[in-house]
Amino acid sequence: MSKNILVIGGGFAGFWAAMAARRVAKSAADITVVSREPRLEIRPRLYEARPDTLAVDVLPYLNKVDVNFVRGEAVGLDTTAKIVSLDDATCLTYDRLIVATGSRMCRPPVPGAAEAYSVDTQAEAMAFDRRLNELARDKKDPTLVVVGAGFTGIELSLELRDRFVAHGAAEAAERIHIVLIDRSDVVGPELGPGPRSEIERALQSARIELRLGATITALASNRVSFVDGSALSADAIVLATGMRASPFTDNVPGERDELGRIVVDAELRAPGAPDVFVAGDAAAADTGDGHRALQSCQHALQIGRVAGENAARDLLGMPAVPYSQLNYVTCLDLGRWGAIRTQGWDRRVELTGAEGKALKRKINTKLIYPPADGGAEALLASSTIDIVKRYAIDGSR
Ligand SMILES: Cc1cc2nc3c(=O)[nH]c(=O)nc-3n(C[C@H](O)[C@H](O)[C@H](O)COP(=O)(O)OP(=O)(O)OC[C@H]3O[C@@H](n4cnc5c(N)ncnc54)[C@H](O)[C@@H]3O)c2cc1C
Repeated sequence: MSKNILVIGGGFAGFWAAMAARRVAKSAADITVVSREPRLEIRPRLYEARPDTLAVDVLPYLNKVDVNFVRGEAVGLDTTAKIVSLDDATCLTYDRLIVATGSRMCRPPVPGAAEAYSVDTQAEAMAFDRRLNELARDKKDPTLVVVGAGFTGIELSLELRDRFVAHGAAEAAERIHIVLIDRSDVVGPELGPGPRSEIERALQSARIELRLGATITALASNRVSFVDGSALSADAIVLATGMRASPFTDNVPGERDELGRIVVDAELRAPGAPDVFVAGDAAAADTGDGHRALQSCQHALQIGRVAGENAARDLLGMPAVPYSQLNYVTCLDLGRWGAIRTQGWDRRVELTGAEGKALKRKINTKLIYPPADGGAEALLASSTIDIVKRYAIDGSR
């Protein structure tokens, strides 16, 4: 019987893990991706207009390189018997497993948080977009509240006027009251001081009201309550409150980091689970220079490739390659202000304004998508060289 490599999760990491595994294994293994839908959701763009367009059908790509697809939700894992069980009671066996189940936004533990909008998945982003459309048609002057002033909250709040324009309400777009809330005393706490002044200028120019050092205690569909007893009326509340590894990762034995990610070794193995590799937002991996990879597309694309390569190498008795990704860059969309690109873990700003925006557009519309021609050769060119080097700059967050 031929050996098989199973990949759970068809996001950025899972898709490229399957491609890399096929490149290395050639015809020596069956490769299967199991995921909820055969769709690569372009999560980094879900703050943008037209979220309904922001996914790619992966079946044609997988078919081209003879990778199977199973639609389903993985709910259980037996690492001794090497079996993954799905929600419909199907059992899938594996010789090598790659867990690439990504992450989910964590909602704050306050009443009403489950009902607030978010842009974490395509379905959630589309629900928020429908609300924006209703408000745009009302022609009133709504208050839109974004909770969480990290990467996503900053990008989303700076996009909201143009989201209204996209719904045909150009005049109302200029009158929306946008409030960005964070319990931290600064915007972009996890971005550090490097890009902060540029971000603050963009927020000021976009007339976004900041409520910093503000802890929320409850949410309703039209109201945010704060710990100091004050409250704010709102027409839509959208959360951007950080991400955590997907619940499936609980099935993998071993150490976790503070984001619930599985701490992996340099070859991206789960040390507590023989034959299991972990990729993307589910993995806490050292980038090779003492830094932990982030829950970012930039890292997921590369970790996915290395995990896929190593799963296949291991199966074929070849030595594994260590994961490393030494060049870290950030590209943050600042709406009408442009975008910034930063370099290094201290995030030194290297590009701003229109130049930054052109790069962000290239990342968002080209670099994070599977190759446009979709040819088998292009897909299998999923070498494990550092992605930032491959694109001779770029990367994303
Ligand atoms: C609004 C937003 C903006 C972002 N902006 C940026 C940015 O500018 N730059 C950047 O680098 N990153 C950005 N990110 C982060 C980036 O999207 C993630 O780091 C990236 O998607 C991680 O890829 P992944 O493959 O690990 O996980 P995901 O993309 O989350 O894919 C996981 C896949 O696994 C499937 N899955 C999960 N659990 C199961 C299960 N139990 N069974 C079957 N299938 C399952 C999911 O349905 C999904 O298809 C952003 C994210 C969001 C939400």
